[in-house]
Amino acid sequence: TTTSTTTILGTEFIARTIANNINSISKVFGIVGVPITPIAYALQKEGIEFYGFRNEQSCSYASSVAGYLSAKPSICMTVSGPGMVHALAGVLNAMSNGWPMILLSSSISTNDIGKGAFQEAEQLKLSTCYCKKSFNVIDINQFPDILKEAIETSVHGRPGPVYIQLPTNVIHSKSVEIPTPMPMANISVAKEPIEQPLIDSTIQLLKSSKKPLIIGGKGASLARCEDQLGQFVSQSKIPFLPSPMGKGLIADDSEYVVSAARSFALKNADTILVLGARMNWMFNFGSSPTFSSNVKFIIIDIDANESKSNVNIVPTIGIQNDINQFLLQLNQSWSNHNNNNNNNNGYQEWWSQLKPEIESKSKLLLQLLKQPQINTTDYLTYHQVYNQLVCSKLFDAEQTIFVNEGANTMDIGRLCITHNRPRCRLDAGTLGTMGVGVGYAIAAAIVCPQQKVVCVQGDSAFGFSAMEVEVAKRYHLPIVFIVLNNNGIYEGLESMEDPKYHESTRSAALSLPPTSLSFDTHYEKIIEAFGCPGFYLDNLVDIDRICQQITSNQVELPCLLNIKIKPTGSKPKIVH
Ligand code: ADP
Ligand code: MG
Repeated sequence: TTTSTTTILGTEFIARTIANNINSISKVFGIVGVPITPIAYALQKEGIEFYGFRNEQSCSYASSVAGYLSAKPSICMTVSGPGMVHALAGVLNAMSNGWPMILLSSSISTNDIGKGAFQEAEQLKLSTCYCKKSFNVIDINQFPDILKEAIETSVHGRPGPVYIQLPTNVIHSKSVEIPTPMPMANISVAKEPIEQPLIDSTIQLLKSSKKPLIIGGKGASLARCEDQLGQFVSQSKIPFLPSPMGKGLIADDSEYVVSAARSFALKNADTILVLGARMNWMFNFGSSPTFSSNVKFIIIDIDANESKSNVNIVPTIGIQNDINQFLLQLNQSWSNHNNNNNNNNGYQEWWSQLKPEIESKSKLLLQLLKQPQINTTDYLTYHQVYNQLVCSKLFDAEQTIFVNEGANTMDIGRLCITHNRPRCRLDAGTLGTMGVGVGYAIAAAIVCPQQKVVCVQGDSAFGFSAMEVEVAKRYHLPIVFIVLNNNGIYEGLESMEDPKYHESTRSAALSLPPTSLSFDTHYEKIIEAFGCPGFYLDNLVDIDRICQQITSNQVELPCLLNIKIKPTGSKPKIVH
């Protein structure tokens, strides 16, 4: 008369619960150690992929960006204390960028709190600063409900990180009954219709303005609104300006994209429709002199703090909703409205001002890109290298995810590389996090296996997480890593002849500029240590040859190209 119940170990129960929700989870990343190692084994037993990293910092960066790419949280699994604290870097990064992720960390046994236990830290308290919500699992039977709520919290509203803490005594629970049915997370976002008067007044404002502009950012990418956006831009003929990671929402080479005239467009626009981009430091807080002082903002954001009670600007119209939903309704109503002003001529006057600006800026960029390297011994510039990578077809605008970080490496890369699809540019983001590149590339290759991943970093940026190339090798991820090596942070010294490098004493090294790193480091040897191909390149002919080999599948991936570029704009003054 009694129904038989299955009992399993706590570690297996945790894995089973994750497996049960796997359709709402991107991937599981982590670094094992006491007491979480058996959870990773149990996950494998459940058929769940577990990707092991080298440092929790990179692992958490990978988790954060996996959420952006897949619209599902990934799990970043760490040990207690230092493991959890290292992962906070990625948690903060996820919070700042608005990306879903779950940090799942062990903690010391509840009975040991305050005794100085192994890897004891105030984890829960720390997590609350940068997480949407933090959970402490007191009894393992709570875990299914907590995981469900954590997954849902991470994706609903503005996405972000959620923390789940598993005390050691809970992980070590024995004989756990499996509840049937197990709770399953629902990550589909309910699309509430927007009241028609709000749509109507948006259209009226846009149609009555002379110089409207659309800004599209990461929120628009997250909303996966590219089809509706493309339709809206071509029917309204309103110029489109992407944020750095909004690139590709409308193809960069489309006639409607005004990136080349960014400053001019921002300064002269009279009405700006903001789709999923915060008016933070990246847009000078929405204020002059970047914007005209009487510009009107229409803000569409899933987050009420952005759309309604914005800290930086007062929107003329603020709509708290999903961007795809908004554009759907906007597209349906746009042509129903009268065009007593200028909508029929497609803002021709505005375009006649933007077009020459775009042309002249594009011409300037082209000059920098097309500069020949006269002697193979001449230092290469960023522009020359990027141009060669494009000409050698390393970037395929249709199917490449481009990870790009560093200072100049990132800023110049943003201008030189074009994208035809959204969510294909991954950079230091809202927080300006340096060191994300290798972790991002690994996550991109795992989450988007049909894409090519090219990761271009400065030598300093690469140094933050260089060891993670071993992870790329271990999982056979076909990533092309490229280090633009200028001997330093921003820039380095130009020559070994420099007495500061020449004298091999510590005091000489201490008088080096704080921006300089070691001269002419052979970063390609780092990946060679793992049996992968590495190349040291200092001229365009060799770069072209290696890129040709890569694109014709003659080079095993992952590989690393260490490209020597001009360390400084001008020879640094040597102080004797
Ligand atoms: P960017 O760095 O590209 O300018 P931000 O990260 O500053 O972009 O801004 C993204 C904004 O998009 C956030 O304010 C976030 O709340 C919002 N957002 C995220 N998802 C959606 C969505 N589905 N619909 C509307 N807004 C969204
Ligand atoms: Mg550098």
